[in-house]
Amino acid sequence: MALLRLLTRLGMVAVMLVLLAARPAAADDHRVPTHAPACHATTGLTAGLDAMRPRAGWACEDSGWRSDVPAVWLRFEAKDWNKRALPRHFFSRSARFETITFHAIDGDGAVRSLVLREADGRPFAAGPVFQLPLPEITPRTTTLIARIEAPHSVPLLTEARITHDPGLADWSQIDMMLLAFVAGMLVLPLLFDISFFVVLRERFVVLHAAMVTAMMTYVLTAGGLISAFVTLPVAVIAVVGPLSWAVGAGISALFLASFLERGAQSRLMRQVTIATGWFTMIVPGFFALQLDATQRFDDVGYFLAFLPAIIVISAAVIEAIARGSRSGRFLAVAWAPIIVASIERLLRGLGWHTGPSSLDQMLYVAVGIEVVVISLAIADRFLALRRERDAALTEARMLEQISTRDSLTGLMNRRAIEARFDELLAQGFDTFALVDLDRFKAINDVHGHQVGDAALVACASAIRSSGDRDAVAVRLGGEEFVVLLRGPRPIERAEALRQAIPMRIAKEVPGLDLPVTASMGVVVLGDAGRQKMAFAEFYARADALMYEAKASGRNRLCYERLTVFRSAPEGRKAESERAA
Ligand code: GH3
Ligand code: MG
Ligand code: MG
Repeated sequence: MALLRLLTRLGMVAVMLVLLAARPAAADDHRVPTHAPACHATTGLTAGLDAMRPRAGWACEDSGWRSDVPAVWLRFEAKDWNKRALPRHFFSRSARFETITFHAIDGDGAVRSLVLREADGRPFAAGPVFQLPLPEITPRTTTLIARIEAPHSVPLLTEARITHDPGLADWSQIDMMLLAFVAGMLVLPLLFDISFFVVLRERFVVLHAAMVTAMMTYVLTAGGLISAFVTLPVAVIAVVGPLSWAVGAGISALFLASFLERGAQSRLMRQVTIATGWFTMIVPGFFALQLDATQRFDDVGYFLAFLPAIIVISAAVIEAIARGSRSGRFLAVAWAPIIVASIERLLRGLGWHTGPSSLDQMLYVAVGIEVVVISLAIADRFLALRRERDAALTEARMLEQISTRDSLTGLMNRRAIEARFDELLAQGFDTFALVDLDRFKAINDVHGHQVGDAALVACASAIRSSGDRDAVAVRLGGEEFVVLLRGPRPIERAEALRQAIPMRIAKEVPGLDLPVTASMGVVVLGDAGRQKMAFAEFYARADALMYEAKASGRNRLCYERLTVFRSAPEGRKAESERAA
């Protein structure tokens, strides 16, 4: 309960963090002197610059963006350019495209053009962004027109800017630190998973590690952090970011299905969740590749294909909570920020709402929160599983005790000795001393069963020889016991035990008029000890000796020492030395 209260608080902190990440993002655009296009237009492949020079045919508001067209034109106007720091670079969000052609048009009609390809783009550390050089812009330049052929994503268009110095567009140190912090936060759960997996060989631990790896890849590439260390081609950044997101989201669904407790998911929901996991890895994963053949629909395809995952994961978490699942509540806290942030990103990706790319930071913070809360959930499950396992072990031990111990005396019972007899014989317990109390029925008849029971307990204490590793005492049933002995002088030791019985009973059960004596039948395997002899045979021989002891007046010990002649034609022949 305390943990759940803590979780709720964590959830609130998480939402605040996400909002905090979004707040400076809104102010971001004023920090850097960058210029957005004033107007945009879409055309087929054949339309040339001359057709685009007039103002007709251009849309001059921040809406109606489409990437599912052969070519998009962006028009930048010189009106608000700083004459002393004229634009020299173009930059935008990384996505695949065929070419970008720039035309710098001067007031006198002169045009300087530059055709650049995807491979000319240079990513830099400010999210998944890349930059391109512009043709020379002079104080006389009035318009810059960019023609983007075969763009694969709307943000490549909506986030296109020109600037004097793209270095100014680099993310601030605070932004970078936030990203580095999130990336660092992801390393811990990975180590955590490895150590958990050593103890807890559960599938969900592996799925979690895979999920964290995908998220880390996403934060490094889509966050642009990687561009602070290496310069990768635009195509790599453009593909690896969305691909790792698709894989991470798909694995999250598989993780959900494997992590929820039994009964927290209906069969149908479980099947749908797993199917959605694979679908999300494969379909958005495929569109993330941004192949030429799918240029017309891979942007919409990518984002729309996340809808099943968003819907199914939300529904599965709600179902789990409704079924009282503890893990479900953890997942709700872990995934609420990420679901909110990814819906925002989805709408932005589809061009249904535009916003600065720094809004992405909401998603990175949400990813960090997600991974940390899920790690807590795994730790919580780990403790629960350990509690379950401990309880099961205790119960198993109890059951074992019940089935192998005699409840009255606490000695081993007949079932246990029969099971362990061969093992004990092999360990050298080659003397079988059968004990039977004399005229015990009379004790019961005169003093009652309770007194009889007390005498049996006292007898057990006498023969238990606690601490003696060379004697094993067993209650066979009734007032009949067996002591297995190993080591030297077995007859003398058995006789000492026998004589200890009346004294012990007299001491522990006061009020008995006569001493309760015992008779013994002892079989010593002796030098034939390496020969295997069955429990039943020992018992039968000892019982016969016991009969002799009873018949010759009780309160005595009869024994026999068995010797084996290996060379005998029958294979084995025992000869005994008998004595009373
Ligand atoms: P003997 O000297 O020939 O062995 O005489 P005995 O009376 O001991 O003969 P027998 O072995 O036939 O009697 C065993 C008696 O032990 C019978 C039963 O009343 C008693 N007995 C067996 N199990 C228990 C038990 O668990 N508690 C008590 N109080 N008595 C038991
Ligand atoms: Mg008896
Ligand atoms: Mg008996």
